[in-house]
Amino acid sequence: MAGRTNQRVLLGCALLCAAALPCADSSRLSAAESQSQPSVAAASFPIASAARLAGDGKQTRFILDIDQTVTFRAVTLADPYRVVVDVPQVNFQLPAGTGTDGRGLVKAFRYGLVMPGGSRIVFDLTGPAKIANSYVLEAANGQPARLVLELEEVDRAAFVQSLAPENRPELRPAIADAPPATVPAAAAPETAQQKADGRPVVVIDPGHGGIDNGTQSSGESEKSLVLAFGLALRDRLEKTGKYRVVMTRNDDTFIPLNDRVKVARGLKAALFVSIHADALPRAEGDAQGATIYTLSDKASDAEAQRLADSENRADAIAGFNLAEEPTDVADILIDLTQRETRTFSNRFARLLMGEMKSTVRMHKHPLKSAGFRVLKAPDVPSVLVEIGYVSNKGDLEHLVSEGWRSRAVGSMAQAIDGFLAKRMATAGSSN
Ligand SMILES: [Zn+2]
Repeated sequence: MAGRTNQRVLLGCALLCAAALPCADSSRLSAAESQSQPSVAAASFPIASAARLAGDGKQTRFILDIDQTVTFRAVTLADPYRVVVDVPQVNFQLPAGTGTDGRGLVKAFRYGLVMPGGSRIVFDLTGPAKIANSYVLEAANGQPARLVLELEEVDRAAFVQSLAPENRPELRPAIADAPPATVPAAAAPETAQQKADGRPVVVIDPGHGGIDNGTQSSGESEKSLVLAFGLALRDRLEKTGKYRVVMTRNDDTFIPLNDRVKVARGLKAALFVSIHADALPRAEGDAQGATIYTLSDKASDAEAQRLADSENRADAIAGFNLAEEPTDVADILIDLTQRETRTFSNRFARLLMGEMKSTVRMHKHPLKSAGFRVLKAPDVPSVLVEIGYVSNKGDLEHLVSEGWRSRAVGSMAQAIDGFLAKRMATAGSSN
């Protein structure tokens, strides 16, 4: 079993491809643009029906019951300490709340889709630990098949030693250009047909997805609320025929933050709108209403800072270990473009507030800014809209209401229309 101990996720994508399942990304853009995409019947995926933890702070065992054996790769990640288990797509039918309470070396765990055809379980650890053993047991004696993971406490030095080279903190900067193979590839290049379409591109980015639920409150997940909102906004914009609308995701899949930015940049989008619906800790008061965020180096206030920090953790939550891609600050051209882009982002944010305040309850300080990674395209005006707080009862009622969504989507579409009409006019006159 020793040989298995340090199995690394070098072949995440290859593994899925080998299983004849679609690999992460070659078709994401075109797929995300189609109205509805037939997906493989969920019934054909292995079903996980139960998960449990046993043991203590020295040794902890995780067991997942599944209705058929699966291939898997398990790997440890540092900062924060995590274990990631990648499997081909699994239909998780675990009781609600599974994974929220930890035991022994596991603080908590979560599970879900990270890419089409690929599921993942991410364990947050209480401290450094190694994968002492990991295996799949076939069904036998009336017991279902099981995926078993055995963790053992180690010190940090031993932990770092056991990491795959691409996941070692001290080596990370040197390999920043070569992210691990598990990362879904960047946006696919435009097809000839897409290029021929001269309409401005609007990228809508529903936050979170797949293994990353975002905020959860009263049985509602942020990831589902913002997807429904994003799709409604897409439909509204497409109806005008004036824009090409591209979703960063149109189903329950996780997309790393940088890939969301790459979709916008790759398509030279005229506008990028990220949709979220977060919560505030009770200690910070019962916040309510919509807030519009733009990018800034320094957060406009503590709440904006806290929110950006939490949104920027999305990749870590999903078990990715990506250093922020370096931006070449020495490049004066990027700097100038960025300044111009920020001006446009701020202009759109103000326009959006003007439209939204007539239909939607706004936060008492509706325009804020912070260092959101998803807003960092230097050449695409970008805003992040918190459409409401799932932690607020009134907001949550709005968020799940069809009528509210339709009004909010309407004013957002109105603002996008106003912003792009002006930009197109300006671009036309300067040519
Ligand atoms: Zn969010």
